[in-house]
Amino acid sequence: MRFSRAFLPVLKESPADAQIVSHKLMLQAGLVRQTAAGIYAWLPLGFRVLQKIEQIVREEQDRAGAQEMLMPTLQSAELWRTSGRYDAYGPEMLRIKDRHDREMLYGPTNEEMITAIFRDEVKSYRELPRTLYHIQWKFRDEVRPRFGVMRGREFLMKDAYSFDLDEAGARQSYYTQMLAYLRTFQRMGIKAVPMKADSGPIGGDLSHEFIVLAPTGESEVFYDAAYDTFDWNQPDLRYGDEAGLQGLFDQVNSTYAATDETHDEARWGDVADDRKRTGRGIEVGHIFYFGDKYSESMGLKVSGSDGQMVTPMMGSYGVGVSRLVGAIIEASHDEAGIIWPEAVAPWKVGIVTMRADDEPTAAAAESLYADLQSAGIDVLYDDRNERGGVKLGTMDLIGLPWQVIVGPRGIANGVVELKNRATGEREELNVDAAMARLT
Ligand code: ATP
Ligand code: MG
Ligand code: MG
Ligand code: MG
Repeated sequence: MRFSRAFLPVLKESPADAQIVSHKLMLQAGLVRQTAAGIYAWLPLGFRVLQKIEQIVREEQDRAGAQEMLMPTLQSAELWRTSGRYDAYGPEMLRIKDRHDREMLYGPTNEEMITAIFRDEVKSYRELPRTLYHIQWKFRDEVRPRFGVMRGREFLMKDAYSFDLDEAGARQSYYTQMLAYLRTFQRMGIKAVPMKADSGPIGGDLSHEFIVLAPTGESEVFYDAAYDTFDWNQPDLRYGDEAGLQGLFDQVNSTYAATDETHDEARWGDVADDRKRTGRGIEVGHIFYFGDKYSESMGLKVSGSDGQMVTPMMGSYGVGVSRLVGAIIEASHDEAGIIWPEAVAPWKVGIVTMRADDEPTAAAAESLYADLQSAGIDVLYDDRNERGGVKLGTMDLIGLPWQVIVGPRGIANGVVELKNRATGEREELNVDAAMARLT
């Protein structure tokens, strides 16, 4: 993308009306614009990041054996009356009437709908287990939408639903999603710690929130430093390996991590002092086993191997895709702006010409731009006729992982400068070496 042709409305000043750094930076760097309270338009830069995050979530769900589908945003009230949640859900649900006075709602979540769809198609134990997911906009009429996309009213969520014949099977589905989540967040370059969450009326140990650490988080967190170094991508940990997944779950359960809601002082006391970590965190995912709550109320039954009818056991698994954009910025920025982890960066490389009006400089930048594009690298080329300092400031603000700085003096000597946004390291290289480094 050429900056001179891009819709990248970067603000000179940090907006005063935003309270937290990610919200400020998302406005200043032109990722989003609010169109109504808690409702945002995603501008090109923000949309690229949102899509990168969505794609990582998708790939890790697919790898874990879940299947993608798409359910609508609008749902009928009837569906929710069947489960009894239409009245129970309360004012967070946006209720709408169509022209025939039929009661509808903008879905805050999809347990009812997926259960009804599954119920109408699946009749036999042979068709279980299954896990289905979609990535779709949700609406929750939050009392206090705030912090930009972190607590919006309309937001993008990945929600998956598992169907199993019994609790043992459901546990395996739960462990599978737990591993998929750990891998998803690790790939995004952020640390999201699984923390035991309230499991509601069913009880048990199958509810975890995934929390990104950031000082502005809404919950207080306590965790064992072991989470700082776990690598969830060990190749010997495989989907379908029951003992391995049980081992993963046992490891998570025996390594302390909790939010203020479930914090247990006695267990915390058993963590060695030098391994105690505390802080604040943002909920970016939540996995939950709820047994037959929806299958029972929605009438989902399949015939078992002995001919008896069985009520499947279910779980649901959410990722806050749009919230993650803000959460990643909270976890990764400095005074100059955003620092995108490479996996979610809108572009991997930004080229800056220090003097767009200097012919050899512009020519060198143009050819580097063409070569990087041919090599399949996402690149933003700041070809504007602006002061070099202004352009460098903008690059720092929008946070691309690599900057290639092309100036008249360097070009006279056949070199460009390569800057790493995260470390700030700068290095002079000839153009071929810079290409080799970036491809
Ligand atoms: P919170 O505690 O922040 O209100 P929740 O527990 O109500 O979230 P879940 O029902 O667990 O949310 O939904 C799954 C995920 O969707 C959450 O982990 C979060 O990442 C995301 N999410 C929930 N509400 C919002 C919102 N208002 N704006 C953006 N993302 C949200
Ligand atoms: Mg909520
Ligand atoms: Mg919550
Ligand atoms: Mg939750």
